[in-house]
Amino acid sequence: MNKVTLRLAHLYPDYLNLYGDRGNVLALKHRSVGRGLGFETVPVGLGEHFDPDDFDLFFIGGGQDSAQKVLIEDFLHDKGPQLKEAILTGLPGLAICGGYQLLGKGYKSSSGEWIEGLGVIDAVTEAGSYRFTGDLFCESPLLREKGLDPMLIGFENHAGRTRLGPGVQPLGKVIKGMGNNGEDQSEGAVVHHLFATYMHGSLLPKNPDLTDTLIELAYYRRYPDGEKLPDLDKSWEERARRERLSKLKN
Ligand code: GLN
Repeated sequence: MNKVTLRLAHLYPDYLNLYGDRGNVLALKHRSVGRGLGFETVPVGLGEHFDPDDFDLFFIGGGQDSAQKVLIEDFLHDKGPQLKEAILTGLPGLAICGGYQLLGKGYKSSSGEWIEGLGVIDAVTEAGSYRFTGDLFCESPLLREKGLDPMLIGFENHAGRTRLGPGVQPLGKVIKGMGNNGEDQSEGAVVHHLFATYMHGSLLPKNPDLTDTLIELAYYRRYPDGEKLPDLDKSWEERARRERLSKLKN
């Protein structure tokens, strides 16, 4: 079989890229290539054409309220409708913080302005009076069910408090930090193969099991009968995890 190349759409990289979000794309590439796949990243910016059928997965990072406002028209009208359709038919993706809020129903910013969202996640966000900043660790039942390490390790910095609708599955349960709203211990959301989270940091370099999950979802969506992908060493990632997890004891 010819080498399979996964194609990733990186949405609005010039506007949504906080606290090392781009590292998520690098981690996806690193582990895809290490597992025998090709990997191509295509930046998709404001005003640029976007057809999700051209891609195997997508990434959208976090940003300030002002950045969310700049791109919202383009997102809701030019890219969002086809992205929503693709997510609902299983396109895998990762959305961080501001990107997560844009995929929800909307966000009432600190200035009181309502920023409409795509509504693919039944979630509403409202800015609180202070920011949630610091380590954010959560346990994901989804990873546990797959026999993977359930602990996700990241960093949060957001004003938004997100409430999930009744049927929405959180990505995980908060172990340290605030997560979606600081009250119900929920963190992030999962809709089909979309993983949305408040975890910056970068997230994926420290969470190789989630990285591999995204890669496998993308690969088997395109090649349902594809050969099993080889395993890849993750000892460096494990070292980074151990260092961060030592904070749990402090
Ligand atoms: N503007 C959003 C908030 O403060 C998102 C911030 C971010 O992406 N880090 O809630």
